[in-house]
Amino acid sequence: MSSTPPPKPGRSRASVIIAVLTCAIVAVSVFRYLAGNTTGRPAPTETGNPTPTSTLPRARPAAEPAPSPIAARRAKPGKPPTGRAAAVSGPLYRLGRLPAVECRVEPFRAGDLASAKRHLHGLNGCLDRAWARQFREAGQRFRAPSLKIVTKPVRSSCGWWVKDVAGTYCGSSRTMYILIDKDWLTDPGYLFPASVVAHEYGHHIQLLTGISAYYDATFPPTKAGELALSRRFELQAECLAGVALSTVRAGLPIEDRRWQELLETTRESGDEAYKDNDHGKGANIARWLDRGYRSGAPSACNTWTASKRSVG
Ligand SMILES: [Zn+2]
Repeated sequence: MSSTPPPKPGRSRASVIIAVLTCAIVAVSVFRYLAGNTTGRPAPTETGNPTPTSTLPRARPAAEPAPSPIAARRAKPGKPPTGRAAAVSGPLYRLGRLPAVECRVEPFRAGDLASAKRHLHGLNGCLDRAWARQFREAGQRFRAPSLKIVTKPVRSSCGWWVKDVAGTYCGSSRTMYILIDKDWLTDPGYLFPASVVAHEYGHHIQLLTGISAYYDATFPPTKAGELALSRRFELQAECLAGVALSTVRAGLPIEDRRWQELLETTRESGDEAYKDNDHGKGANIARWLDRGYRSGAPSACNTWTASKRSVG
C-alpha cells in the first residue's frame, strides 16, 4: 500500500437549515459547521498485515435471507421519541441483530477505478437490503440513501467538500459521497473504502431514527461539550458501520486478517493526530467499530449512554 494516509469518514451535520438557523445563536458551532461539516481523519501508514490476535465470530451464512437471529421488536404504535430520547432510547435500539444478506460484491481490480466504483455500489446495495429488511421487521419506515462516488472534491447541497475528508453524508439530500483515493486502489483486499461507505450509511441510519435531529439541534455551551457530543455521534456511526459490515462478511468477503488490519488502521487514525477531538481516540473508534461488527446489532451502539472514557 502506498504510505499516503487516506482520510477517515467524515461527520455530517444532517440538516443545513437547522445549522444555519442556529448560527446566530451559537457562533462557535457555526464556525465548526462551516469549517468542518465533515472532519477528515488520515489513516496511518500501512503497517503490514498484523497477525490476528483474537478470534472473530464465524461468518454467518450469506445464502438465505433468514429472519434475524434476534428478531427485531416491532415499534409500538405512536410517534417515535424525539430529542435526546431518540438518541438514548429511540427506535434504533429496537432493530434486532442484522442477519447476513446474500451479497455478491464484485471485487475491484488493482488500479481500476471503474471496478472500484462497481464494488462500492455493489456493497451499498447489500447494505440497503440489510438495513431495509431490519427496519421492515421492526415496523419502521426505511428509505435508502443515495450514493455518489467521486474522484475529486465536489459541492453537495450541504456545502463544499471539506479538505482531507474521505466521505460525507448530506442529510438534506440523503446522499452519501465517497471520495475515492487512488491509493485505495492498490490493494483490492483493503477494507477501508468499504468502512467509509458503511460509516456514512451509519449517519443515514441516525437520520432515519431521529438521532441526527437531536444532534443537529443540540449546541452545548462549551467547546468541550460540543466535541463530546460529536464523538458520541461519530462513534455511533462507526459502530453502525461495524454492524452493517457484519452482514456482508461472506459476500464482500471480510477475512479475519483483513478485519484486524482495518482495526489497526482505525486505531492509528484517531483524534490523537488532530487538533480537535471530535471523532474519538483511535482505540475508541476501533473498539466501537469492532463492537458493532461482533454484535451485529444496533443496540450495541448506544454511545449516548456509554461512559465518558469509552467515548473519549
Ligand atoms: Zn462521520
